[in-house]
Amino acid sequence: MTFVFDPMPTPSLPVTGDALRFPIRRIFCVGRNYAAHAIEMGKDPDRDPPFFFTKPADAVVQDGETVAYPPETENFHYEAELIVAIGTDGVNIAEAEALNHVYGYGVGNDLTRRDLQLDAREKGRPWDWGKAFDRSAPMAALHRVSDVGHLSAGAIRLTVNGAVKQEADLSELIWTVPEVISIISHSIALKAGDIIMTGTPAGVGPLVAGDICVVSIDGLGDLTTTIGPAV
Ligand code: MN
Repeated sequence: MTFVFDPMPTPSLPVTGDALRFPIRRIFCVGRNYAAHAIEMGKDPDRDPPFFFTKPADAVVQDGETVAYPPETENFHYEAELIVAIGTDGVNIAEAEALNHVYGYGVGNDLTRRDLQLDAREKGRPWDWGKAFDRSAPMAALHRVSDVGHLSAGAIRLTVNGAVKQEADLSELIWTVPEVISIISHSIALKAGDIIMTGTPAGVGPLVAGDICVVSIDGLGDLTTTIGPAV
């Protein structure tokens, strides 16, 4: 097959312990999945069904890269998140089977233009401009389940210039990884290459040019992102 111009390269992430890379198909994100974060965003923490938004696969940013301060925001936020990499297709996946679809786990940062997101939220409009902008999805190397097992607990923290801003435990997730996989798969066919960002704990806040933001999860290492000047 030939195209009118070269197709875009496939976005991907490195895999720790493997020379091969993980090709990214789609990025699904869970909204408000830690109670203390839901409260800080002015919402009730509860077990209402979770809701989702997405980012384009080519929003991914590699560990160690610089992200330029994005346009049209004056309140650019970090969000530390556990990411789940799907390795096996599935529809209508039962919770008890859900972890069999996981290839691996990693550390992510759901970068957010908070002013645009909240304005959209208040007007009942889509979140895309607040969440799905260019280079909004830094992610570190994936760790295979065969190396690290499954993660239902463990510290997640985020620092800006060395100061701790977010500190929580994966056991505080309102909707667990198997529940999230099952719920998504009853609405959309999950495919190998899909990434799920599982939500952020409390303590979200702003980044400015020159900041160095580090997200860490026990057993998964660090993700370092430097914020550059607006371009
Ligand atoms: Mn998030």
